[in-house]
Amino acid sequence: MERITWDQYFMAQSHLLALRSTCTRLAVGATIVRDKRIIAGGYNGSIAGGAHCIDEGCYVIDNHCVRTIHAEMNAILQCAKFGVPTEGAEIYVTHFPCLQCCKAIIQSGIKAVYYANDYKNHPFALQLFEQAGVTVKHVPFDVNSIPTFLHAKGR
Ligand SMILES: [Zn+2]
Ligand SMILES: [Zn+2]
Repeated sequence: MERITWDQYFMAQSHLLALRSTCTRLAVGATIVRDKRIIAGGYNGSIAGGAHCIDEGCYVIDNHCVRTIHAEMNAILQCAKFGVPTEGAEIYVTHFPCLQCCKAIIQSGIKAVYYANDYKNHPFALQLFEQAGVTVKHVPFDVNSIPTFLHAKGR
């Protein structure tokens, strides 16, 4: 029986998380993985209990929505909140992370970044990742592979 690959499995989780995004500008999801186990997930949205972009509109400063916390940051902060180590972990993201998130990823000890879509890939971020020895790999997510697995014989 065919099985979904780890890369597609974790990437699917990030895309599922992105469906919970509350910002109308871009829906992003991030999954932190350690030893092939999902330890945290996040999507871009407001502070817990705060007003949502989908209800009140985005709060745009310098062409960025500042109302939301980014998906990667939310996933890392979930680990901080519950005391889960991120050292040596990996992160699967729907979009290439912004510069701030890239720095947070490096500083949290995450050793690999897998992204499905290019998104303003900052050259300084790539430089920082290389300096820090963080693996960066483009892992395109094939959403059409999911129904194939769901409808496979015997499932
Ligand atoms: Zn927004
Ligand atoms: Zn970010």
